[in-house]
Amino acid sequence: MSAPSDDDKANILLVDDQPDRLLSYEAVLEELGQNLVKASSGVEALGLLMQNDFAVIILDVSMPEMDGFETATMIHQHPRFEKTPIIFVTALHVTDLDRLKGYAVGAVDYVAVPVVPSILRSKVAVLVELYMKRRELQRLNRTLAQANAELGEANNMLRAEKTRELQQLNRTLETANARLEEANRTLQGEMAERERLEQELRAADRRKDEFLAMLAHELRNPLAPLRNALVSLQRRGISDEAKAQSLAMMSRQITQMSRLIDELIDISRITSDRIELRKESVGLQTIIDDACELARPAIDARGHRLWIDLPTRAVELGVDKTRLAQVLSNLLHNAAKYTEPGGEIWLSGKVEDADVVMRVRDSGIGIEPAMLTKVFDMFVQVDSSFERSQGGLGIGLTLAKRLVELHGGTITAQSDGLGHGSEFIVRLPFTSAGMATALPASAGEAAGATKCRIVVADDNADYAESTALLLRTEGHTVHVAHDGMHTLELVESALPQVVFLDIGLPRLNGYEVARRIRALPGMKHALLVAITGWGQRRDRELAQEAGFDRHLVKPVNPELLLQLIAHAPAATAAAGVAPAANGKGEEAERVLLVDDNADVRASIADMLRDAGYEVQAVPDGHAAIDFAESWRPRYVLADINMPVMNGFEVARRLRSRYPSSEMKLVMMSGMKLNATLRESAASAGFDATVDKMADREDWVRVLRY
Ligand code: ADP
Repeated sequence: MSAPSDDDKANILLVDDQPDRLLSYEAVLEELGQNLVKASSGVEALGLLMQNDFAVIILDVSMPEMDGFETATMIHQHPRFEKTPIIFVTALHVTDLDRLKGYAVGAVDYVAVPVVPSILRSKVAVLVELYMKRRELQRLNRTLAQANAELGEANNMLRAEKTRELQQLNRTLETANARLEEANRTLQGEMAERERLEQELRAADRRKDEFLAMLAHELRNPLAPLRNALVSLQRRGISDEAKAQSLAMMSRQITQMSRLIDELIDISRITSDRIELRKESVGLQTIIDDACELARPAIDARGHRLWIDLPTRAVELGVDKTRLAQVLSNLLHNAAKYTEPGGEIWLSGKVEDADVVMRVRDSGIGIEPAMLTKVFDMFVQVDSSFERSQGGLGIGLTLAKRLVELHGGTITAQSDGLGHGSEFIVRLPFTSAGMATALPASAGEAAGATKCRIVVADDNADYAESTALLLRTEGHTVHVAHDGMHTLELVESALPQVVFLDIGLPRLNGYEVARRIRALPGMKHALLVAITGWGQRRDRELAQEAGFDRHLVKPVNPELLLQLIAHAPAATAAAGVAPAANGKGEEAERVLLVDDNADVRASIADMLRDAGYEVQAVPDGHAAIDFAESWRPRYVLADINMPVMNGFEVARRLRSRYPSSEMKLVMMSGMKLNATLRESAASAGFDATVDKMADREDWVRVLRY
């Protein structure tokens, strides 16, 4: 028996109990070049089959113990050898029955003994080839399966890779998408904002057009009655009564027009942030009085009743009193305008917690809820039709709101709807300055006392002439110039005590004119007043540098001009008092005396005049500050205990404007001077202190020192 060998060869199992026959099979089949494996019994053959595959089995039919048929049956019962071809070798004559039996157990062929070598060889060769082919096929199949598996694996990897890439792509896409959505949202937001702004712009533009139409209408309105009144006045033989009526009408129309124009100027200042508040300590009562005085004609004209409710104790505020009175008078005007004749108006002022609250309520036409906040927008009028127009431009409340806000306060409107009246509430933070305000001496009173030479210079001929007319009616001698050079010539020849000078003069501007006036002999102490459209701090500084004493912003209230003239120090000289001198031919030093007690003022002034000083005396702190600004005294002697503004405050305010080298401040006290008092005096800016009861030598010593 030989063992099966290498894989390239097929195994052929030869089974026969006779060794010589096995040898003969071997000899016959050797030339096929395959592995020939021999077994001498069916049992041995079965054992070999367990270990190897065989391409073909040559099986002896008649063997002892287990014959060929039994062996074949057992072989084919095994699933692995089911298909293994078996060639039976039989020495006997094989009957057809046996043949059938053999085929039934799986034989593929029969070979009779004696074996014809070529037949056996060719039969085996065919079966071996078949086996080889099948084996090759199986191998190919396996390779194919493996290739398939590898392909499957590669496919899986590819799919996984692709999935990963797709997921990655997906994530990138999602991020890009989110960004796009975000960008989209931003864009939509921006578009909405733009749309809103465009709408606002269109609305503002529409309001501006309406405003311009309204402005033209409102400005033209007073012209017809003015022209009519003028024609009546020019008529000969006009009765005194008609004359008075015409003049009153002209005055009303001019007041109305001035109000409109003032509002316009203010609104342009506000939109370019050029409004500056001049805060001072002032009583609530004063503001309410001023506002009522301004609005009274409008309230009376429509037959309304005005009720005023104020706290019993005095309330002091730190505000710009003119601007605040303007706000309240504006609200009162509106209340009068938007209330049917014969209505009621309530004005109240109260301290509520940390605020001062002023309310103007009326029994008028009311405001619908949707308009309650809009009425404060510029050019907004609830009913802007000309027929319903009450004479206004829709800017009064805008102005009021801005002025209140500049004071750190708020203004709101309330109404229970159309026909139910309106209420406007101004709320200001309550800043008690702890001081009261004194009204300066009335213009008329002071103006009556002095007659001055005055030059008025303005390129607006009508303004200059009408101002001159007004001043002449007060008894002053007035010269008018319309350009800078002419002004200089006039001043040089007339040597006026007061010059009102427009800054924007042709040929030589106001600053230059002022500088040259100051250089003229005898014009060093004249009162130079700049009158301009610009009220910024820088404009004031420029005016001061050029030598002006005062800086007024147009439009100037004529009363203020009269008041300034009355306080002009040179006016005293004009009124016949010789310029003070110290007896050595030098100009006397100026002393300004502030004391609320008239007797004290008179006695100290006399004593100082005796000592050779030029003295002016005023009764309160406000007057002192105004006066010091225009007169520039060398010394200011201030009483401490004054009811309006105490001496410390006067000193503080003066010291903040003038250094000690320019203006010496002396504290006068009726009390014994202790260390604490002296310390307070020094920290307020006083240079020296003096006892009111001191004698003349002491006074002179203090001033010289
Ligand atoms: P105007 O010059 O038109 O009075 P305002 O800015 O002062 O302008 O007011 C804006 C609008 O607010 C007015 O046109 C009016 O429609 C409304 N308004 C103001 N005050 C009152 C009020 N007391 N009662 C009813 N409506 C008012």
